[in-house]
Amino acid sequence: MSRKIAFIGLGIMGGPMAANLVKAGHHVTGFNLTQPPIDALVAAGGHGATGVADAVRDAEVVITMVPADPQVEEVILGEDGVLENARPGTLVIDMSSITPQTSVRVEAAAGQKGIRTLDAPVSGGEAGAVEAVLSIMAGGAAEDFAEAKPLFDVLGSTVVHVGPAGAGQTVKAANQLIVATNIQVLAEAVVFLENAGVDLRAALDVLAGGLAGSTVLGRKKANMLEREFAPGFRIDLHHKDMGIVTDAARAVGAALPVGAVVAQLVASARANGDGSLDHSALLRGVERLSGR
Ligand code: NAD
Repeated sequence: MSRKIAFIGLGIMGGPMAANLVKAGHHVTGFNLTQPPIDALVAAGGHGATGVADAVRDAEVVITMVPADPQVEEVILGEDGVLENARPGTLVIDMSSITPQTSVRVEAAAGQKGIRTLDAPVSGGEAGAVEAVLSIMAGGAAEDFAEAKPLFDVLGSTVVHVGPAGAGQTVKAANQLIVATNIQVLAEAVVFLENAGVDLRAALDVLAGGLAGSTVLGRKKANMLEREFAPGFRIDLHHKDMGIVTDAARAVGAALPVGAVVAQLVASARANGDGSLDHSALLRGVERLSGR
C-alpha cells in the first residue's frame, strides 16, 4: 500500500532512506535545512517542501532523521513543528539517535494531540541506508509498530520491536557503546601491527576470518588502511551517543568501566579537531598516544 510520508532530515542517512521509500512506491515529501538534498529527493521522484509544516500537513506518516535531541525537539515539539501541523491519527516515527527520555516526552506530547509515535533508531551506517539493510530497533505501541513494519522492511533487513517508547533508543545506546569500543580496539591493534612491522592488509584479512572478525572490522578496515576518514558516521555524533549511553547507564545503575574510557577517547578525538571525521578516525587518537 502506497503511503503519504513526510521525511524530515535528508542527510547522510535520511537522504538514501527517503529515496528508498520513493523507490518502493511511496509518496515522499522531504524537508531539510539545506536545499541540495531536497533537490536530490525530487530528482529521485520524491517531492520537496518549504518547511516542516508544509511537509507534514497532508502526511499519514512522518519520519524524522535529524542529528540529536535539540533538533528532534525543534522539529517535532517546536513552534510550527510536526505536532502543531500534523493531523490527528498521524504516525510520527523518529529514527534519529537521541536520549530515551526525549522519546518518552515526545510520545506524551504527541498523545495530547491524538498523534502516535515510535522511536526507531537504526544501525548499519551510510552503506546500510543506501543498500536498505539497516537494523531497526523500535520502541512504542505494538499496533503502531505493526503499521510501520512494511515501511521499516523497505529500509532495513533486521527490524525488531524492542519495547515501549524509549526502548528503541536504549538499544541504540548499547549499539553505540559496542561500536565505539570495537573501533577503538581495532585502531589499537592497527597501530600495534604497524609499529611491529607486520603487513597490515594481510594481518587484517586473516583477523577478519577468525574470532576477532566483526562487522566493524569488515566495514572500517578500508578506512584505516587507506586513511580515508570522510564520514560515514561523524565523531561528533558518536560523542553525542557516548553521552547518551553514559547517562542512561548511570540512571539504571549499570557500570560501564570500559565505555567510560572509550567515551573519553571519543571526546579527546573531538578536542583534537577530528569531530567532523568518520569514527574510524579514532585511529588518529591512538597514533597521537603512540607518539606518531
Ligand atoms: P547528517 O548531519 O548527515 O544529517 C542530518 C540532516 O538533518 C542534515 O541534512 C540537516 O540539514 C538536517 N536537519 C537538521 N536540523 C533540521 C531541521 N530543524 N529541519 C530539517 N532538517 C534538519 O546526520 P546523519 O549522519 O544522517 O545522522 C542522522 C541521525 O542518524 C543522527 O541521530 C545519527 O546519530 C543517526 N545515525 C547515523 C548513522 C551514520 O552512519 N551516519 C548511522 C546510524 C544512526
